Amino acid sequence: MTTPAPRLLTAPGSRMEVVLCDIDSTLADTRHRRHLCPTVDPTREPGPYAWDTYAMACGGDTPIAGTVTALRMFYAAGYGVHLVSNRPHLVLQPTVTWLAQHRIPYSNIRLRQGEETFDSDLKVRYLGLVRARGYHPVLFLEDWPAEAAAIEAAGVPVLCVNPRYGDGHPG
Ligand SMILES: [Mg+2]
Repeated sequence: MTTPAPRLLTAPGSRMEVVLCDIDSTLADTRHRRHLCPTVDPTREPGPYAWDTYAMACGGDTPIAGTVTALRMFYAAGYGVHLVSNRPHLVLQPTVTWLAQHRIPYSNIRLRQGEETFDSDLKVRYLGLVRARGYHPVLFLEDWPAEAAAIEAAGVPVLCVNPRYGDGHPG
């Protein structure tokens, strides 16, 4: 049995065909704040706020030029661009400022809300939500292999970005 080809731009410019993109280490180079990552430094305080210090340093990120270029091309072609990230909602404003500063186009942004735990389900849940609203997710850009696998299992092809950490940690 063959998998049907994705339906591409059946409604050009409507932005109903959607390219989704992770932010940290996919769109934004996070290597300068890597030492704050709880998966890298297990001595950092565990719990629901473990990722907040890491996230709050996001204003100093450098855009990953290849991903920015791809998103600009998809947006110019008429695709919707949805940014979906486990960044906590408390850094929404610096994130939006950073996106504007670097002229990164997007139609929607979804960060992790206060009541949500950090897990791989956020992106898969978001896919279900946009599908229920009639959008057609055609591609997901993601750096973390486990997240990429979960997204592929949900039926969306993943273009996996290599964040070039150089320390052997996957995420
Ligand atoms: Mg990431």
